[in-house]
Amino acid sequence: MTDVIRLDAVTKRYDETGPAALDQVGLAVGEREAVAVMGPSGSGKSTLLNLIAGLDRPTSGSVTVAGTSLGGLSETALARFRRRNIGMIFQFFNLLDDLTVLDNVLMPARLGGTSLREARSRADELLGYLGIGRHADAYPAHLSGGQRQRVAIARALMNRPPLLLADEPTGAVDTATGRHITDLLIELNRDGQALLLVTHDTRLARACTSRIVRIVDGRVDEAAREAAGDISPDAAEAAR
Ligand code: ADP
Ligand code: MG
Repeated sequence: MTDVIRLDAVTKRYDETGPAALDQVGLAVGEREAVAVMGPSGSGKSTLLNLIAGLDRPTSGSVTVAGTSLGGLSETALARFRRRNIGMIFQFFNLLDDLTVLDNVLMPARLGGTSLREARSRADELLGYLGIGRHADAYPAHLSGGQRQRVAIARALMNRPPLLLADEPTGAVDTATGRHITDLLIELNRDGQALLLVTHDTRLARACTSRIVRIVDGRVDEAAREAAGDISPDAAEAAR
C-alpha cells in the first residue's frame, strides 16, 4: 500500500526554550486507510494536522503527503497543493458566514480554477449526497451545527482530495448529529477516502478507523499503538 501521509522524525517547536509540541514523530498512513489520533488536550494533535496540511512547517524532520515532500514547496505551491490534495474538517466548521452554503462549497474549486459549470455540478452532487441540497442558498448562520458540518464536509470533498483531515469533527454537535457525521466519514472511507481523524471520543475512533495512534506530550506512544492494532474492522463494526 502506498502511503498518503508519511512523517519522519518530525519535531515542532513553537518557541526555542519550551518543550517541543511534537517530538521526533514518525507516522505512515496508507491510501484508503482511516487512522484516529487520540491524546490529551495539548498533546500535539492539532499541531500534527496543521503540519500534514502544510498550514505550518516542522522545526525539523520531513512531511510527505500524496508522494510530495512539503518541505520543498514555496508558500504558493503549498497552498495549491493543499487545495488539490487535502480536505479539512474542523470542530467549529470554519465556514465563511458571508457566503451561502453553495458558495462556501464552490470556493475550493473556484480558487483552483475549475469552471463554474463543472464546479456547480460537483457541488450539487455533494450537497445532495450530504442531504443539504435544499439549503444551498441559505447562509451558515441559519443552519444547525450538524448541517453546517455537512457543508464543511462537502467543501472538503469538493476537489476530490486523496486525504481528509478531521479535527474533532463531532466536538461541537449533539450525540445524534455526531453519529450522522460518523456514519458519513465511515461511508467516505469505504468509498476509498483516506482519513486522519483527531478525536477525544473512543467510540468514534473505533467506529471510523482501523487504527488508533496515541500522542502524549508530543510523542507517539508506540506501546499504545500496538495495543490498538487488534481492533479489526469487525470489532470496529461491533463497537458502533
Ligand atoms: P492538541 O490539539 O492535542 O490539544 P496542540 O497541537 O494544539 O494540542 O498543542 C500542542 C502544544 O503546542 C500545546 O502545549 C500548545 O500550547 C502549543 N501550541 C499550539 N499551537 C501553538 C502556537 N500557535 N503557538 C505557541 N504554542 C502553541
Ligand atoms: Mg487540538
